[in-house]
Amino acid sequence: MTAVFFDRVTVLASYDRSARTAGGRAIPLPSVVLLRRYISPVRRVAVTRYGIFTRDGNRCSYCLETKSTSELTFDHVVPRSRGGASTWDNLASACMPCNFRKANRTPQEAKMPLLQPAYEPTQAGLYARGMEIGLRDDIPTSWLDYIYWKSPLQA
Ligand SMILES: [Zn+2]
Repeated sequence: MTAVFFDRVTVLASYDRSARTAGGRAIPLPSVVLLRRYISPVRRVAVTRYGIFTRDGNRCSYCLETKSTSELTFDHVVPRSRGGASTWDNLASACMPCNFRKANRTPQEAKMPLLQPAYEPTQAGLYARGMEIGLRDDIPTSWLDYIYWKSPLQA
């Protein structure tokens, strides 16, 4: 709303809901806006538990079973105690039995190969992955003309 007020964006679509100005005027809430100046997107994606699960399609990286996020843990591929970092390329989704079995060992030592790659996703790639596995079913319909992926509701 601030960006609209200061004329930094062009409103392309709005929600049915409105916001009231201090003067009591109703202004439709924008749902899709066009930036008047290009702002480059954040290049690196922050590492989050949810992001790891999304990247891995909610599958355990060691047995490839699909689990609910409450049944998943994240595993340090190279254990933290051995200098493994909490980075995209060292964190993998793991079901509880696999995580317990692997314990404080590398995949090689545990003879549990990583069956899906641990890699750093792009923001767009992570969103697309989320759509594939249906994490987001709350996409406003007014966005659909402007995004390249489909809402699971449309599928
Ligand atoms: Zn597993």
